[in-house]
Amino acid sequence: MSSQREILNCVGGEWRRPSGSDELVVYNPATGEVLARGRGSSPAEVDEAAQLAARAFAEWRRTPATERVQYLFRLKRLLEENLDDLARTVTEECGKTYDESAGEIKRGIENVEVACGIPSLMQGYNNEDVARGIDEHLYRQPLGVVAAITPFNFPGMIPLWFLPYAIACGNTILVKPSDKTPLTMQKIMRLIEQTGLPPGVVNVVNGAKETVDAILDHPVVRAVSFVGSSPVARYVYTRATANGKRAQCQGGAKNPVIVMPDADLETVPRLVADSAFGCAGQRCLASSLAVVVGEAREPFREAVAELALSRKVGYGLEPGVEMGPVIRRESKDRIEGLIGKGAEEGARVVVDGRGARIRGYEGGFFVRPTVLEDVPPDGVVARTEIFGPVLGLIHVRSIDEAIQLVNRGQYGNMACLFTRSGAAARKFRYEAQAGNIGINVGVAQPIAFYPFAGMKDSFFGDLHGQGRDAVEFYTEKKVVVERWLERL
Ligand code: NAD
Repeated sequence: MSSQREILNCVGGEWRRPSGSDELVVYNPATGEVLARGRGSSPAEVDEAAQLAARAFAEWRRTPATERVQYLFRLKRLLEENLDDLARTVTEECGKTYDESAGEIKRGIENVEVACGIPSLMQGYNNEDVARGIDEHLYRQPLGVVAAITPFNFPGMIPLWFLPYAIACGNTILVKPSDKTPLTMQKIMRLIEQTGLPPGVVNVVNGAKETVDAILDHPVVRAVSFVGSSPVARYVYTRATANGKRAQCQGGAKNPVIVMPDADLETVPRLVADSAFGCAGQRCLASSLAVVVGEAREPFREAVAELALSRKVGYGLEPGVEMGPVIRRESKDRIEGLIGKGAEEGARVVVDGRGARIRGYEGGFFVRPTVLEDVPPDGVVARTEIFGPVLGLIHVRSIDEAIQLVNRGQYGNMACLFTRSGAAARKFRYEAQAGNIGINVGVAQPIAFYPFAGMKDSFFGDLHGQGRDAVEFYTEKKVVVERWLERL
């Protein structure tokens, strides 16, 4: 194994091999080959990282914001120059296609760009003469050491949802990448070093549960940003806040799309198929349930089934491949089990992606696109976050019935509507209980200067990632009431 494929921490500017109890194994999910093995960080290693980050904070917070963002301008350029290498790494460890990987890095770069605006985004406000001769000012100050704990499915983009804002605001940060896909962040950290950023401002601590718990319990860590599955998001939120930390925890999803009979049935099936099967369905914004209204039923089902059957599945670094594997063999088994359970519950399997074998990649963890029709609304396919390329179809008679179905769900990450009616769109926007709403859009991902919203079991906290919320989250407000006597 080459030294590039070691799982290393970068703490206080030094690269080290962590030695905690959790064993980490990174696979190429298209081949089943092991790319890297290593260990997570022990509580002592987390402690050392937190102390070094705290030491770096003392000087970093005094560095003017205008100077702090110069490192981010450099990082943006380095990310762009290294986009190809980063995208290849994402595909290797995560499985998505090269274009999807390049797309995720670009969405990450958008956050670096927005954070470059911190000198104005972080401004406070003030009033003269709130009482005679008394002035009042609001300042925003950084919190100190913060942490970001990120999931496997966007190993490049999601750390960049947090890191740029955190450090631009004057904090120092510990990034704990996914134990399944840590190699991309390692490469990003090498680029961060090249910006000349002072050591200890950004630190990478690899690991799994042991490392996360040490972060959540560490007294120096003031705030935790988390993205992952809902049970872990709830756990992280509960433990972090019980320890007095700020927390923003983005969880899982089950995203419904409503297809109205007046929707453009030429383009909509393509948009829904791209949303459901893109990134092999391993996106928190994947639409996994299509609620088809009235006579849209037959044409939509036929078109989407055709698109599922014709999607080219394979290794994401090969040209023309439109969908890669899922992350682990256990994920494949779990997804195939859920398809089987759906069929037992009465759903009709229109396109069956189980038992996929991709020539030349027999060791890979592939599931082909799958379409299930008439899934029971309270059954496993309609309710579970499958996190694979599986689209369930439910047929209803009206938009009211469709919205009711959307709002019955446990999650509230995204909901989309396809229609030509402005009235239907407004009703949906007004009533649908989801944080990210798409109108004639299949993946409603907010651009970096908007918060990545989420409701119900898809989000625990109050301030979201990205945009102005990020500035609120990573700063503390201080109000100064000031009087100067004239005859001093
Ligand atoms: P996960 O919850 O398994 O892991 C997320 C992070 O938590 C990782 O860093 C992991 O090492 C750590 N972790 C895992 N189990 C833990 C435990 N028991 N205690 C402490 N830490 C633990 O999630 P995943 O499988 O990596 O990612 C997929 C999930 O993330 C899906 O549910 C998806 O919807 C969600 N997701 C949500 C968003 C969003 O914006 N809402 C974005 C991307 C992914």
